[in-house]
Formats: sequence, structure tokens, C-alpha cells
Amino acid sequence: MHNVVIIGSGCAGLTAAIYTARANLKPLVLDGHEPGGQLSLTTHVENFPGFPDGIMGPELIENMRKQAARFGAEFKAGTVTEVDLTQRPFKVKAANEAFGTRSVIVAAGASARLLGLKGEKELIGRGLSTCATCDGYFFRGKPIAVVGGGDSAMEEANFLSRYANRVYLIHRRDEFRASKIMIDRAKANEKVEFVTPYVVDEILSPQGLVTGVRLRNTKTAEKREISLDGVFVAIGHNPNSTVFKGKLEMDENGYLIARHGSLTNIPGVFIAGDVQDHRYRQAVTAAGSGCMAALDAEKFLEEHKD
Ligand code: NAP
Repeated sequence: MHNVVIIGSGCAGLTAAIYTARANLKPLVLDGHEPGGQLSLTTHVENFPGFPDGIMGPELIENMRKQAARFGAEFKAGTVTEVDLTQRPFKVKAANEAFGTRSVIVAAGASARLLGLKGEKELIGRGLSTCATCDGYFFRGKPIAVVGGGDSAMEEANFLSRYANRVYLIHRRDEFRASKIMIDRAKANEKVEFVTPYVVDEILSPQGLVTGVRLRNTKTAEKREISLDGVFVAIGHNPNSTVFKGKLEMDENGYLIARHGSLTNIPGVFIAGDVQDHRYRQAVTAAGSGCMAALDAEKFLEEHKD
């Protein structure tokens, strides 16, 4: 029987592990399908406080893991396939093992959608990014593209125009899912050029670094190439919440709904990080919410000693 099982080993899960381990609760962290979460897929992180020269994403996450382990957190590989939250102790199943626990912290994260092109994942951190706030700064004075037609794409195009000298907004249709105000803002931006209706057929990277995109017009099939240094994929995120469907409250996009910090509709189950946050999605905000979930779990265990 565990005091606390933490589902997910990204920034939120590991921060929750550091706090609960230091509180002597011996947390069990279940790694999930992407150990280390989205930070493990990024390169240089320059906006996490405390690192004046920046730090590589994988190193930052490895440090957090070591820090949690030092205080007694235990780790297990494997994706959670089933949870029973109907009664305490709760049951969590991962990699064919079942774990009983007095409390659960769900920090399963979200995965940025990719275009599904060959070699795309390998280009993350080599010109391809899914996070404008994280990586925009690296493209000062350079041409870049944003792919997508939702609010995220419009927001990122505007944000990135602070750095880039040209932002091509590539979308597969002439109509946009984004709200009118966001579209108007992007259209009014001199640096943003709308390229529609086009899909990206290939990201050009002859030396392993992005140098351009090959596009196809979805109406005329005309092909076109654009030379650029960066591609930001902004076609949405999927919260990793499928296993909690019908068990924890979620919005229509599958994001878990937090009440009063990290609390959920089930006492003893807490949530943190991107699985409950489609707005900020930052390493530091995920860490902050992991801390909140840990403090809430600690308080809950103190009050429910049964
Ligand atoms: P979204 O609204 O789901 O839009 C995703 C966009 O990506 C769509 O335009 C879609 O094209 C395109 N897309 C999806 N799969 C694609 C693929 N395989 N290839 C090419 N294009 C693809 O996602 P989001 O923009 O991340 O927004 C998510 C939610 O957060 C929304 O509710 C949004 O309003 C909200 N949000 C709000 C703000 C704000 O208000 N400041 C900022 C960001 C996000 P189609 O349209 O053709 O399907």
C-alpha cells in the first residue's frame, strides 16, 4: 500500500515527487509513455528560473528526478492502463502491476500534436518546435513558419513576430478555426504572411537542421518551397487523460478540471501540470502546480489516517 502514487514523470510529477518524498510519504512515480514529459523533447531551456545560462531540457528533468530519488521517491516504468477511483484505497494499474494507494496525483501531461511527417520527431530542437514561448528567442532575425489555423497558431505567429523577420502562417484551409479577433491581429501584423490552403509535405533538413518546407496546395496540388530556419507546429495538444474518462471531471477537450488548486471531484485524487492546463503550459507553472498537488495530498493524508 502506497501513500501516494504519482502518475507522470514530467515537471509536474517530479516536483510533486520531491515535495511528497521530503514529507516522508515515499511516493511511487509511474513514468508514463513519455518519461520526463515534454521537457525531455526540448533542447535549451532559458526561462526556467535559477539557470542564468539556461539548461538543456533533458538535463533539467534528470536533475529533478535525482532530487526526488534522493529523498526516497520510487520510480516504475510503464503507462497507466486502468484506475479504480471508486473507493479508497485507490487502485492504479501500470505495466501489468496493480498498486494500492491512499492518494493519487495525476500529472500525466499533454502531448503536442505533430504533423506525422517522416523524421519530424528527430528535428525537434533542430529547427522544429511545438512551443513558441520556449524557442522563439532562438530565431531572432530569421524567417520561420507556424503551421495551424487555430487560436494557438495565431497567437504563436504574433508572438514569434517579435523575434523572426518573417512568419509564414501555413494552414491547410482558407477558413480558420481561430477566433476573429486573433485572425485580425495576425492579419494586421506586417511580418506575418498567410500561406493557405497548403499542407506541409516535407520539412527540408539536408544537414539535420531545418532549412525550409515543401508545401502542397490542397486545392490545386501546386507545389511550393519556402526557405526558412524554423517550423513551429501549432496544431493543438492532446491531454493524456483517456484513462480517466468518466472518472474525473474533464472539459470537452479532455483537460481535467481542477477545483481550488489541485483538487478534483474525488477526495484524495489531485491533478497537476499540462493534463489540467491548456493555457500556460510552461515548465515552471507545471512545477508550481506539482507542488500544490503535493501539499494538498499531504494535507489530505494527514486528515485521513485510516
Ligand atoms: P485547435 O483549435 O484544435 O486548432 C488546431 C488547428 O490545427 C486547426 O486549424 C486544424 O486545422 C489544424 N490541424 C490539426 N491537425 C492538423 C494536421 N495534421 N495538419 C495540419 N493542420 C492541422 O487547437 P489550438 O489552436 O491549440 O486551440 C486549442 C484550444 O485552446 C481552443 O479552444 C482555443 O480557442 C484555445 N486557445 C485560446 C487562446 C486564446 O484565446 N488566447 C490561445 C490558444 C488556444 P482545421 O481547422 O482544418 O481542422
